[in-house]
Amino acid sequence: MFARASLKTTFKKLFFRTYSSTSDYDLVVLGGGPGGYVASIKAAQLGLKVACVEKREKLGGTCLNVGCIPSKSLLHNSYLYHMALHDLKNRGIEVESVRLNLDQMMTAKNSSVNSLTSGIEMLFKKNKVDYIKGVGKLSEGNKLEVKLLESGERVLTSKKILLATGSEVSPFPGGAVEIDEETIVSSTGALALKHVPEKLVVIGGGVIGLELGSVWCRLGADVTVVEFTANIGGVNIDLDISKTFQRMLKKQGITFKLQTKVTRAEKTSKGVHVYMEDAAGGDESTLEANVVLVAVGRRPFSRDLGLEHVGIKTDAQGRVEVNDMFETHCPGIYAIGDLIKGPMLAHKAEEEGIICVEGMLGGSPHIDYNCVPNVIYTHPEVAWVGRTEEQLRQEGIDYKVGKFPFAANSRAKTNDETEGFVKFLSDKKTDQMLGCHVIGTNAGEMINEAVLALQYGASGEDVARVCHAHPTLAEALRESALMAWAGKAINY
Ligand SMILES: Cc1cc2nc3c(=O)[nH]c(=O)nc-3n(C[C@H](O)[C@H](O)[C@H](O)COP(=O)(O)OP(=O)(O)OC[C@H]3O[C@@H](n4cnc5c(N)ncnc54)[C@H](O)[C@@H]3O)c2cc1C
Repeated sequence: MFARASLKTTFKKLFFRTYSSTSDYDLVVLGGGPGGYVASIKAAQLGLKVACVEKREKLGGTCLNVGCIPSKSLLHNSYLYHMALHDLKNRGIEVESVRLNLDQMMTAKNSSVNSLTSGIEMLFKKNKVDYIKGVGKLSEGNKLEVKLLESGERVLTSKKILLATGSEVSPFPGGAVEIDEETIVSSTGALALKHVPEKLVVIGGGVIGLELGSVWCRLGADVTVVEFTANIGGVNIDLDISKTFQRMLKKQGITFKLQTKVTRAEKTSKGVHVYMEDAAGGDESTLEANVVLVAVGRRPFSRDLGLEHVGIKTDAQGRVEVNDMFETHCPGIYAIGDLIKGPMLAHKAEEEGIICVEGMLGGSPHIDYNCVPNVIYTHPEVAWVGRTEEQLRQEGIDYKVGKFPFAANSRAKTNDETEGFVKFLSDKKTDQMLGCHVIGTNAGEMINEAVLALQYGASGEDVARVCHAHPTLAEALRESALMAWAGKAINY
């Protein structure tokens, strides 16, 4: 951490003392996603002359265009539809003839995307970041050749270059399931289906598969999730949470085939024929689907960037290798976000964007990846930060558990949303907080309190002694900390 008051002047002086040669820019950022656009704005605010090169028609990257934002719009609105159909009556709200207007739901999604992406363009103008629409590629001498979207080319020289080209959908291994974005779709196609499929098979029970599977299940599709491992929710989820989560989604109508491997998919006149076998090999089975969603992960976008011209290396997964300053093997060229190691999350990319730029200007970047939260925006939501019980056991750390159910929380009761719990993990001897895992309504908002506590090294007692507003769901977090620290909650 360093004092913010005179950062701009100090950084600018340092920067210009170090890099005095003439260039078009002080910094050119390649990619206008959450990593790249945030880094561009921060650098401009610190006094640098900045350009951001983006090959899409719009800024915002995967997150705003085909990721976080459109998926959350569909999750929210499909949830309201589902409530109107199945839940409002119990709450004393009688609604006649609820009907789905999918076109309108997609229009609402597109308008949130458009207002946010054009908002970034305005922020660029406000902060004097040059926005260059084109495809960039590194060339010898640390230059950036840009094929402009309109027409023509530009060669940009810059004292420093930041690569923030993000990631793309991973194809199905061996090409045995080919994405056409109509009947066999990636997350991008699943965000824009024109009809609710009668049967949707989701390959992959990770975050994206579960979120989009939930959307279409609420809108009326018969959804089956096929997952290779024994658990849903991705590799870092606490197993206790994962099991509860699976039970809840099953109750909502999603079918799970775990420890099952899709081997291939064939298009038929009616849809798609999906072939599967036991993860261990053996027992073959098939499923019929109208639409198949391939959600087997994402891979870094490190192709065709000209990395070889400047000696930048990638690891076995195609991620650009960087040091603690986010600098690549080529001095003066940096990389952040989905393109490098670490969780593929928008807020992680943003954090890296800011501290990478501060580091270029003399700061000492530091990010504690243990304090980067994860959220699955289903209903209920799942959110966590820090270590899981499995990780603590593996690391041989003695820990305490405080687990408080929402069924004992007054706000959850008034909202009639009592499913789930908060689990607080702390060190058995020191009481220092080690992790927090929430499954319940608004878990994604609640987790930020836990992140703050973990980041500042709080103990269970610290969190338990903080006065929380009543009645709020966050009181369950406080009670779970109290249970971990003192062994007993007040309301449970
Ligand atoms: C369906 C879905 C839902 C998601 N939901 C969430 C969520 O809820 N929360 C969350 O934290 N994360 C979520 N993510 C992940 C999140 O979108 C990414 O982690 C985040 O966008 C990464 O940011 P980035 O800046 O590194 O890369 P990106 O957002 O991928 O941006 C990179 C940009 O670089 C551009 N580019 C690439 N190559 C070039 C080139 N040669 N020249 C010019 N421009 C180039 C690309 O066009 C792109 O716009 C989701 C992802 C998906 C697919």
